[in-house]
Amino acid sequence: MVGGGPAAHRLVEALTDRNEASLRISLFTEEALAPYDRVALSKRFEDRENNLLLGDESLWQNPQVQLHTSTAIAAMDAEAKTITDSSGAVHHYDDVVLATGSSATRPPIDGDQHIAVYRTLDDVDWLVDEVRRLAEELGRTPRCTVIGGGLLGLEAAGGLKGHGADVTIVHSREYLMNAQLDEGGGGP
Ligand SMILES: Cc1cc2nc3c(=O)[nH]c(=O)nc-3n(C[C@H](O)[C@H](O)[C@H](O)COP(=O)(O)OP(=O)(O)OC[C@H]3O[C@@H](n4cnc5c(N)ncnc54)[C@H](O)[C@@H]3O)c2cc1C
Repeated sequence: MVGGGPAAHRLVEALTDRNEASLRISLFTEEALAPYDRVALSKRFEDRENNLLLGDESLWQNPQVQLHTSTAIAAMDAEAKTITDSSGAVHHYDDVVLATGSSATRPPIDGDQHIAVYRTLDDVDWLVDEVRRLAEELGRTPRCTVIGGGLLGLEAAGGLKGHGADVTIVHSREYLMNAQLDEGGGGP
């Protein structure tokens, strides 16, 4: 199984629940931790120790399941039925599941490689460290701009503000959270 998000977690749970003795699952995730609850990511702003792990941790002690964290899969050969990780190690499979999810979009503007995103535990830790670093370096309240005033933008803005940043939200629509709310709910 390639990818270690909520979809991969749910599938590992469902497969192991079948109690098939011959089952062997190897899960490869490029993230440092076992699958966690991305939906609850904002909690990480408040507590760096909260890994938001999904389900029962004993799943990863099941001898039928091998969890490979910090291991990105870089190539797949469907004919040879192998996947290759970023260290070059080749792993054989009978069936492969790609549960690689999605990634945060960066606007196509100059310098976009410097834009931070809000999608993983590492992203949140980086944002918190960066606010602290900027406050020390500048000797004043750091100013952060969040691009996007939807649910995730507001969560990120709230988290940054909670760590002492002065936050501006830039949103392309007329009112915030326009995908979820009407103008009365999302307006000023
Ligand atoms: C802050 C936040 C709040 C959200 N809130 C909600 C909500 O309230 N309701 C809702 O329905 N949805 C919400 N979502 C969306 C929800 O989190 C996603 O729909 C869900 O995480 C998708 O799960 P997934 O397992 O398919 O993919 P992902 O969660 O994207 O997981 C994919 C995993 O695969 C890994 N991966 C990718 N490529 C490779 C590779 N080549 N090798 C190894 N690993 C790889 C990635 O690093 C990642 O860990 C939210 C998302 C965020 C970021």
